[in-house]
Amino acid sequence: MARKFFVGGNWKCNGTSEEVKKIVSILNDGKVASADVVDVVVSPPFVFLPLVKSSLRPEFHVAAQNCWVKKGGAYTGEISAEMLVNLDVPWVILGHSERRLLLSESNEFVGDKVAYALSKGLKVIACVGETLEQRESGATMDVVAAQTKAIAERISDWTNVVVAYEPVWAIGTGKVATPAQAQEVHSELRKWLQTNVSAEVAASTRIIYGGSVSGANCKELAAQPDVDGFLVGGASLKPEFVDIINAAT
Ligand code: PGA
Repeated sequence: MARKFFVGGNWKCNGTSEEVKKIVSILNDGKVASADVVDVVVSPPFVFLPLVKSSLRPEFHVAAQNCWVKKGGAYTGEISAEMLVNLDVPWVILGHSERRLLLSESNEFVGDKVAYALSKGLKVIACVGETLEQRESGATMDVVAAQTKAIAERISDWTNVVVAYEPVWAIGTGKVATPAQAQEVHSELRKWLQTNVSAEVAASTRIIYGGSVSGANCKELAAQPDVDGFLVGGASLKPEFVDIINAAT
């Protein structure tokens, strides 16, 4: 089954409104492959979502970087899935390793958030990935499978889920996974989905790679059969993001 290439830009906690306008104009002016061949979703901080959404070329979409695990209410500082839906924000990134590690988000909590966001009609970029210590101890697949299992146990429809494999040791370090390392985990993840969810979900779910993706390394990574796109941090704030969008063309 053909899986459409997917490129997400995770702007993290960066930018002023002036900087955001500059990034948007680079994206709007960029010569990119058609929306028939690549989905492009950028994820600014919450406060810039309306600005980006209203000024970005219409074939690109926006994602929030997080949302709350249940209906909004007395949860100071949180943003609910309902609010994102209300603002027509179609996507949300959940389970990013920075939140798992810095804010102690557990596999179960992330699974609950994915299920809730999907139930409200959001599409989800669900992040999984191992730390360097876990990789060196040979636990990569156990970790990634446990993170995926916590999601799989809570959802039944994977249509609106993109899985982002982001090894923690590769995020923001400039130390990108080799194409073979990325392909190995992506293919194992797909096998995990085949065994534990269904052959159909395994064949159709996009598994994208994240961690120091750049204009220089994206083509080789994109050529791997189980790499269906990227989640890009640092380079998504730079003109080279346009090259990454075009990596598969
Ligand atoms: P990076 O971040 O591209 O800066 O390594 C990726 C991510 O955290 O999504």
